[in-house]
Amino acid sequence: MNCKKCNEEIPLVVNYENGFAKLWYCSKCDFEEREITECEHEFVTLKYEYSSTLINVMTKCTKCDKFLKAHKHRDVDLSNLNSKNLEEGFEYQDRLKEIRILFAKKINELRLEQKKLTNEWSIQQWYYGYLQSNIWKKKREWVLKNVDYKCERCGKKALLVHHKTYDRVGYENPEDLMAVCKSCHGKEHSENRDLDIVSQFKLDNNI
Ligand SMILES: [Zn+2]
Ligand SMILES: [Zn+2]
Ligand SMILES: [Zn+2]
Ligand SMILES: [Zn+2]
Repeated sequence: MNCKKCNEEIPLVVNYENGFAKLWYCSKCDFEEREITECEHEFVTLKYEYSSTLINVMTKCTKCDKFLKAHKHRDVDLSNLNSKNLEEGFEYQDRLKEIRILFAKKINELRLEQKKLTNEWSIQQWYYGYLQSNIWKKKREWVLKNVDYKCERCGKKALLVHHKTYDRVGYENPEDLMAVCKSCHGKEHSENRDLDIVSQFKLDNNI
């Protein structure tokens, strides 16, 4: 399998039940490719009893619940038909659920590994540490007091201090910082997706 983004060959990272489901992943591009064996349908006509008054007769796959046909009560012999136990679920769907969880877990693991390799991890660790420091607490307090704890966007109560740039993170100029309320903080970040400490550090330090 080749990565659709960088075109390099990428490793098979999960092989679930001898190829029933496979996951390939390119850590460099964060690109994934999955291949899952389709259900080998087993169509059976059964009674689906939703309540004592609502009984449907349908031909469906007992493994994945794929619908094929509905039958009128007068066309079938209700007393001779087996019922579907609705609580039992569907084997194929249960497997898919299991696979989705397994794949997501694996990709998270690989992303974390990649982060550690590329220094993203240490940059973020450093930043979280900085946000806990007394230096930052004092700066933060100063910014908030300076605007009377009012959000610089909407005027409501500000509890957060936002970095408009990470250019001087650790030794910010006053204009680098901005007091905001929680909702406006979210807006600042969604309007400015390039504002990201990790990519900015990488650019500055040629990592
Ligand atoms: Zn790639
Ligand atoms: Zn099926
Ligand atoms: Zn606000
Ligand atoms: Zn922010």
